[in-house]
Amino acid sequence: MKTALLLVEDDPAIAETVQIALTTQGYAVTWVGLGQAAIELLKNQPAFALVMLDVGLPDLSGFEVCRTVRQHSNVPVLFLTAHSDEIDRIQGFEVGADDYLAKPFSLRELAARVRAIVRRQTNFLDQHSMPSLSCGPLTHFKEQARITLREQALNLTRTEYLLLEHLMTHPRRVFNRDQLLDAVRGSGSPTGDRAIDTHIKTLRTKLAAIDTAFDPIATHRGFGYSLNLGQS
Ligand code: CA
Repeated sequence: MKTALLLVEDDPAIAETVQIALTTQGYAVTWVGLGQAAIELLKNQPAFALVMLDVGLPDLSGFEVCRTVRQHSNVPVLFLTAHSDEIDRIQGFEVGADDYLAKPFSLRELAARVRAIVRRQTNFLDQHSMPSLSCGPLTHFKEQARITLREQALNLTRTEYLLLEHLMTHPRRVFNRDQLLDAVRGSGSPTGDRAIDTHIKTLRTKLAAIDTAFDPIATHRGFGYSLNLGQS
């Protein structure tokens, strides 16, 4: 899975070059031009590894954006700044920045900073995240909303994640489709019995993509599904 970065920058020329440069380096870069859009995005989609945040935005200043984001997120923030007085404020660490880069910056310098921050963050998470629940080779990291199979992260949709999480909380227990629908309710997925079958199917495919021999979801015809892990 590619590392997701958020770029908040109102100058399309800068945004485009940054986006191209970092995409070439293997990152998935999302670009927004307004501070408010960045705040909304980080609330609804917390999976970004880093935010590159321009200080001079048309609606809110980058400082205001960072303060608001900090109320609910510890995502690393790299400020992109044009003026020396802005640099003074960032160096005062008032707003919770992780690093800054003064414009004009070289793309090589930007890529190096991004790599360093992402690596630091990954090491930190690896050292500090405790699995909430393990079922055989499946491990659930609840705080990160992440499930791994044999130490490899599963790239799940929200509905697939909620289904597997639910099955993992009660191994071997058979859940009917109504119970599973309740578990994924509010996740914006279409409802109905067949919808659950469809998500179970894609979930099985994703598990098999990591380990073809591992097929833990048992179908109980006329009843529903359970998670069976055998003796191991
Ligand atoms: Ca700007």
